[in-house]
Amino acid sequence: MSDEGSIKNRIPRKVRSVSAYSVPRIDCSVRLDGNESPYDLEAEEKLALSKRLAKLPLNRYPDPEALELRTSLSRSSGFPVDGILLGNGSDEIIQIIVEVFGGKSGRVLVPFPTFSMYRITSLILGKQVTEVELDENFDIDIEQTLETIRTEDPDIIFLATPNNPTGNCFSEEKVLEILEASDGAVVVDEAYCDFSKKSYIAHIDKYENLLVLRTMSKVGFAGVRLGILFARPQITHEVNKARLPYNINSFSQDVLSFVLENPEVTQRKIGLILRERERLRGELKRIGKINVYPTDANFFLVRVPDADSLFEELIRKDILVRRFRGEGRLVNCLRITVGTREENDQLVQALVKIFPS
Ligand code: PMP
Repeated sequence: MSDEGSIKNRIPRKVRSVSAYSVPRIDCSVRLDGNESPYDLEAEEKLALSKRLAKLPLNRYPDPEALELRTSLSRSSGFPVDGILLGNGSDEIIQIIVEVFGGKSGRVLVPFPTFSMYRITSLILGKQVTEVELDENFDIDIEQTLETIRTEDPDIIFLATPNNPTGNCFSEEKVLEILEASDGAVVVDEAYCDFSKKSYIAHIDKYENLLVLRTMSKVGFAGVRLGILFARPQITHEVNKARLPYNINSFSQDVLSFVLENPEVTQRKIGLILRERERLRGELKRIGKINVYPTDANFFLVRVPDADSLFEELIRKDILVRRFRGEGRLVNCLRITVGTREENDQLVQALVKIFPS
């Protein structure tokens, strides 16, 4: 049958040529592939939470503005409540930003490699995407980026710092240079900032084009799906128009309110992950065949002699890490999330067996 009358032709070529973000479902008991926290709430915390959730009226819509939750976030961050917008994961906020910004050049600038959803979402929504390769230290190539800003005038620039999958923070002076040079939206994605302890939120005072993105996914609540945008109120006012009503369900609103009322629950676990990160860094560096890149996040990017075979070998040992397919700069790289002490020990023992000294 000819393709001409096919319903597929009604879907723009740009959409058809994009590969979906895929998360392979491989069953391993040690899961170090998703940059999640290895720690769930304790049993007694879950019990307290479930008592609270049991009181939710499920026949009613959630608070469409999630005002109580945004007010708690405003209190804990010191940021005005009308500059805070919530999403069903930061993925959703990325999508809304790409929907709303795009009024001038229709172009989006992203570094490479970085979190792939910036590119995928932008292409699906009909934007032109320019990728500027990071330099040899995985920092921003500032000359090339400034040149692209001059020639293409991107409506949006996405900068994840710490960057996924490289793990490093970008140089602050380069990020600020970009904020100065561009009058498009500069989205600084701080998904991993709890592990780097660096934030750009204070710069929103100075730069009206700065949007800061956060998520609860890396600190123990990936299943809750909650992303947070901090920006000037006149920006969140516009972005909010593209947000679907009731995008944060009642359960998620209540879980996060509970988390904010009990901040020590999360802080203690971030401390554990940071300690484990340093211990794992030392252990990985002792394995000669593995090149461990510096990280400020809750994961390591490593380069190994043959990433595909190590990936498979680790699966046989019941350990799942993240691999990258066909991506130049990431050839033979794997990304390993910091797990619990026991999980990290299991990983190190497996690696020592695979790469005996
Ligand atoms: N930004 C970055 C840099 C990420 O690595 C991820 C998740 N891998 C996200 C955003 C999406 O997070 P969420 O679970 O909040 O949608």
